Amino acid sequence: MAKNYIVEHMEEGMHDWCTLEYEHMVSVCGADHIYFTALTPKTLADMPASLRKAHCHTEDVLTMGDRIPHEKICLLDPSSPYPLAPEDGDTYDFFLFGGILGDDPPRDRTGELRKLGFATRHLGPVQMTTDTAVNVSRRVVEGKTPLDKIQFIDHPEIKLRKKETVTMPFRYIALPPKESTEVAVEGEESTKKSKKAKKLEPLLPPGMLELLKKDNDTALDLF
Ligand code: SAM
Repeated sequence: MAKNYIVEHMEEGMHDWCTLEYEHMVSVCGADHIYFTALTPKTLADMPASLRKAHCHTEDVLTMGDRIPHEKICLLDPSSPYPLAPEDGDTYDFFLFGGILGDDPPRDRTGELRKLGFATRHLGPVQMTTDTAVNVSRRVVEGKTPLDKIQFIDHPEIKLRKKETVTMPFRYIALPPKESTEVAVEGEESTKKSKKAKKLEPLLPPGMLELLKKDNDTALDLF
């Protein structure tokens, strides 16, 4: 049975990064199963049509208790003592996330939602982006895949251009392994054709690589 995913927006305005992550959630879960809450009227007005297809509210999740029963809500909280499990989909219908861009090191801003007293579950010891946390939660509670059966990649190094890379301070879902370029295998003559190494790539929101390149160019222009 399809579940619902609530993102309590906790950033000022709607950054490009947020928009890409939120669009990724809508495409994965379906607009009818995504709720964006605590939007300021200006943020709501700035949201692209692709996001306004989802349930968009200026009210916060607590205020919506008459429509979203609190006992049916589970907060995804990195500090929870309990891991999310497939059977949690039998108890909860709404899974709540902080609409937070994340920081390195994490500042526990999810703590503001922890105070609301909902049941909590964690997704492992490494901070995920919000869209990754939603995607992983959906695979567990709808796809019934145990958390430890999902392949992740932590702090991936993303190649922007020939000599430019950026390391992301997050855990991502790993895309199916693909053959990378040939790499020399230790202990073998360098001339020997090496075995193809399998390289894991992170599942990023569509458009994120282009945004990272643009942000990187902007940063380089500052020097
Ligand atoms: N650094 C942020 C903080 O201080 O809370 C983390 C925000 S994370 C980018 C956005 C949201 O994704 C969190 O509020 C939480 O709901 C969810 N999330 C991310 N990683 C998680 C994890 N390992 N366990 C549970 N929830 C997680």
